Amino acid sequence: MSDKTRYMLDENDMPTAWYNVQPDLPVPLAPPLDAEGNPMGPEQLAVLFPMECIKQEVSQERYIDIPGAVLDVFKTYRPSPLIRAKALERVLELPEGVKIFYKYEGVSPAGSHKPNTAIPQAYYNKQEGIEKLTTETGAGQWGSALAIAGALFGIDVEVFMVKVSYEQKPYRKAIMETYGARVHASPTMLTESGRHVLAMDPESTGSLGIAISEAVEVAAKDLGTHYSLGSVLNHVCVHQSIIGLEAIAQMEMADAEPDVVIGCIGGGSNFAGIAFPYFHRRKEGKCNARLLAVEPKACPTLTAGEYRYDFGDEAKLTPQMEMYTLGHDFVPAGIHAGGLRYHGDSPLVSALVKSGDIEAVAVHQIACFDAAVQFARAEGILPAPESSHAIRVAIDEALAAKAAGEDKTVLFNLSGHGHFDLSAYEAYNAKKLVDYDFAAGAMLQE
Ligand SMILES: *Cc1c(COP(=O)(O)O)cnc(C)c1O
Repeated sequence: MSDKTRYMLDENDMPTAWYNVQPDLPVPLAPPLDAEGNPMGPEQLAVLFPMECIKQEVSQERYIDIPGAVLDVFKTYRPSPLIRAKALERVLELPEGVKIFYKYEGVSPAGSHKPNTAIPQAYYNKQEGIEKLTTETGAGQWGSALAIAGALFGIDVEVFMVKVSYEQKPYRKAIMETYGARVHASPTMLTESGRHVLAMDPESTGSLGIAISEAVEVAAKDLGTHYSLGSVLNHVCVHQSIIGLEAIAQMEMADAEPDVVIGCIGGGSNFAGIAFPYFHRRKEGKCNARLLAVEPKACPTLTAGEYRYDFGDEAKLTPQMEMYTLGHDFVPAGIHAGGLRYHGDSPLVSALVKSGDIEAVAVHQIACFDAAVQFARAEGILPAPESSHAIRVAIDEALAAKAAGEDKTVLFNLSGHGHFDLSAYEAYNAKKLVDYDFAAGAMLQE
């Protein structure tokens, strides 16, 4: 067992192909359906996405080459570090046999894992002559990532930002605008979908589902405009696999195999990124890691949702996908982990939860912030509220092993830093945070 703290790969040892989990699924994915319930072919998706992403969406190739121009941009911030959380282990007084590692995706220019897919998506769209990308953003992380990628590849970016986050996180808007993007608080009066929602509820705080409707509507109406999604879809999970592929190489350098691989889950992309390559490794018989997705109790898609076809958005403009869902019209309570407030989940992650290959657990936000602050004071990194869900459960897993007198190696993905989430930490420090149950967005007694 190596005793280093930080495991770094050389840029020349960065993976040059992504991993695609589709050929390894126990049951093939059901096809996306249009609004009438007919299976959709690749042609119908072409008004929204570049052909290269559509191919990846349905690809049965296990490995997909990363374009050279994308690798060149990746090299400005990748490979990302894998860190042994030694200080946290000391604070938790873990015995020698219980170890915590984390893969840190906060080193990207946007401060999260999201550029891993924003960069190839902007690149493929540029290659196909697209001039503008529309998108939605929750916490503002995805909008920032796409704004950066758009600037790097010379594509205009228009962002529909969920209103509750727009108000909680004013600096995210400033970043996106600084990179040249246009930002609206969704629901807006600019689209039919937005006007419809505002007519029903003028006070709507918005949701990812509503913002997606707006962005899709704008893209569908203009030939030179495509839509870009930062999570959920298969090609996004393909792009994020670089996290897990690097982590496997780095854990090998540490001479360690995880017993459990943990990630927070909103639409599923950072979790898929770290977990799918380990799913493949488990299939190969090289490890036996449990794969554990952590979601908020205010939006418990995997633990309380139904597995069925549903739309990806409020206005039913997206294809229907088979996945765990709380219903496309579900508007979650305004928890601070804005990136986890999505009614659905990646069909790939959903299928593997359904088959029992992936486990899921739901946690409350105050317990997550407790863990985030404990982590920050030990390791020095201030985590994003989303990532704090993974930290909560990583700590719980380690403490459970300690209590049981068992050895355990825990690996979690630290999907981003929290430098733009300081209003959330301010609320936590002032003891103003509340927990929400999912039922009717009801507030829980503390
Ligand atoms: C967007 C985001 C998430 C949630 O999205 P997934 O697609 O589920 O990964 C998690 N963490 C951070 C830091 C994010 O920005």
